[in-house]
Amino acid sequence: MQTSVIGFPRIGTLRELKFASEKYFRKEIEAAELLKIAADLRKTHWNTQKSAGIDYISSNDFSFYDMVLDTAVTLGIVPKRYKELNLSEFDTYFAMARGYQGDCGDVKALAMKKWFNTNYHYIVPEVEDDTVIKLSADKLLNEYEEAKAVGIETKPVVIGAYTMLKLIRYTGSKKAEDYVDAVADAYKELLKKCDEKNIEWIQFDEPSLVQDMKKEDFELFGKIYDAVLPCKGNCKILLQTYFGDVRDIYGDLIKQPFDGIGLDFIEGKETLNLIEKYGFPEDKLLFAGLVNGKNIWKNHYERTLNRLDELKNRKINVVLSTSCSLLHVPYTLKHEVKLSKEYLAYFAFAEEKLTELKEISELADKDNYASEVSYTNNKQLFDKKRDCDNEEVKQRLLNVTEKDYIRLPERSERQKLQKKVLNIPEFPTTTIGSFPQTKDVKANRSAFRKGEISKSEYVDFNKKKIEECIKWQKEIGLDVLVHGEYERNDMVEYFGEALGGFLFTEKAWVQSYGTRCVKPPVIWGDVYRKNPITVEWSVFAQSLTEKIVKGMLTGPVTILNWSFPREDISIKESISQIALAIRDEVNDLEANGIKMIQIDEAALREKLPLRKSDWYTEYLDFAIPAFRLTHSGVKPETQIHTHMCYSEFTDIIPAIDDMDADVITFEASRSDLQILDALRENNFETEVGPGVYDIHSPRVPSVEEIVSALKVMLTKIDKEKLWVNPDCGLKTRGVPETDASLRNMVKAAEEIRK
Ligand code: GLN
Ligand code: ZN
Repeated sequence: MQTSVIGFPRIGTLRELKFASEKYFRKEIEAAELLKIAADLRKTHWNTQKSAGIDYISSNDFSFYDMVLDTAVTLGIVPKRYKELNLSEFDTYFAMARGYQGDCGDVKALAMKKWFNTNYHYIVPEVEDDTVIKLSADKLLNEYEEAKAVGIETKPVVIGAYTMLKLIRYTGSKKAEDYVDAVADAYKELLKKCDEKNIEWIQFDEPSLVQDMKKEDFELFGKIYDAVLPCKGNCKILLQTYFGDVRDIYGDLIKQPFDGIGLDFIEGKETLNLIEKYGFPEDKLLFAGLVNGKNIWKNHYERTLNRLDELKNRKINVVLSTSCSLLHVPYTLKHEVKLSKEYLAYFAFAEEKLTELKEISELADKDNYASEVSYTNNKQLFDKKRDCDNEEVKQRLLNVTEKDYIRLPERSERQKLQKKVLNIPEFPTTTIGSFPQTKDVKANRSAFRKGEISKSEYVDFNKKKIEECIKWQKEIGLDVLVHGEYERNDMVEYFGEALGGFLFTEKAWVQSYGTRCVKPPVIWGDVYRKNPITVEWSVFAQSLTEKIVKGMLTGPVTILNWSFPREDISIKESISQIALAIRDEVNDLEANGIKMIQIDEAALREKLPLRKSDWYTEYLDFAIPAFRLTHSGVKPETQIHTHMCYSEFTDIIPAIDDMDADVITFEASRSDLQILDALRENNFETEVGPGVYDIHSPRVPSVEEIVSALKVMLTKIDKEKLWVNPDCGLKTRGVPETDASLRNMVKAAEEIRK
């Protein structure tokens, strides 16, 4: 049986691409050096897959920032304002991704959105009415040639035309339908070019097919592929789907002249049923996504082999594949030297998944695999009982009752009371929590981790930073202060470390967006709070000022969503356990005099099912109550804030209001302002701070810009309810731009008050 990998991570085992790109952004290296580093990485990644024995290896899965942006550039989709900067092609690309402020002009970055149900974010391409779609396939063809030069035949991958047309933002009056012909022409030309180069397989990624499809979606899909498929020449097309099943279009899909269809058997609940119901044509290859591309647990060989047997019995030609790109898992276990072997035995990162693909495919070819070493080893592992239960945690959860999910009195009462006692001005200014993580802050943490400085040296340094931060915020004139989060690298990692039940890796980085990576903790067992986590920092910060300092926590849904979850208990159970742990911390903060507590739910939407019909029953019905469980025990006058990244909750506004927070801050500046209309329409009760500027870019917003953003907000939000804040934490920003931006923000609030 052959094996296939949908895509491989590209940031580098030790984040080489990240560091090189950032050097380039800081103008410390030339483009040529960055290009060289990137080429070396690609070569390494292809060789890794080749030596693991993978048959279908992708090329063009590399990206300097994001594969959707790459595909947009391939189609010539570059908005005018970026072209007008007259930068090199390379820098125009980065200007779209990161914004540009310099000698050539001043433009914001394109919007960024979550990639389906992952923690990866893509750049939203913008098509203007006069955009001319025109193929430039250099990147794809060059990378194919590059692999070929080292003796590796690859399948180039691009985002498919259907998914592209669905993800593009149309800024003018034209719609997706108006671009179908032009886009289809570009894909036809691409196929022609691939055919000329004798490229055997090309992979079109069409994850949008796993979402609910309407009549016009079928039409769109049909129009595209009716035009594209007849032009494939000798080139074979793999239509690759992932993150779910294609129940709406499966029956039709298998009738189309694709040469291979990639289906997800991990998240695709219906995939097998669809095959049973409609069959699978003998003349096509089924790329069966049975090795989980999103989670880090070893594959259960017996289960997978049973699946493969079923497929073989149906005379289906199977290629064993990952369930999605390996972009969503870390590279290798090789660098994990601290974690005990007992745990590591259960892990498989990208490289280890390559081995799994190979082993399983070999076992599948045997008539009798029961005595093969790779099989028996795997079986023994899964037969063994893992040490992950904690009876006390289980019991505590059983004792939770309905009333523990309800905070009293009701919010409108609380809001009145809070206005009286908290004594903050109209249009209060605040930040989301973190302040710039400057070199010294990172060095302090890292020295402590390595044991180079003592605990008290570490704490003293952070306290000094907190003092500076409080002083800085007072000077800027902010109303509600924060302690700055200097003790945290990644917030979920930070909380995970303080909770029982989590495991940590050293180098298991996963790309989140652009050069930003995260290192998700692993939920191994039942979760509980060991000791107070943030109380000391918050109490210290509050002792330095008369102004209110917000306590700063991460919520249960986000902690779960940004960790690698267990596969042996439900997500609902894990979230509820974490909620109880955070509840302990919330209550402790309040008991220690903290008057406002922010519980971030940055990743609330992350695991929202891709199909609407599953939203409540399979997610929101337990995720929202879990959030309430964290704060239902506080006094009426304690103000609970929450923060969400992205304003993509237009369609779940009632659920957000149902979190029953007193205030929510969220990201609006990089997205359109539709959300504000939706808030009004739904009579949103929670006070709101839709971010007034974009922190993902170093650009400094002007006072006028912020004032006009606030004016727009005031047409939709009652003035008693509007907060003034950046759209997310400031940890990735530098000090100068943070200072300038916040000062402008405070001035804007003053102007609005006038
Ligand atoms: N409080 C966190 C911070 O400011 C929130 C981060 C986030 O939303 N991603 O960094
Ligand atoms: Zn955020």
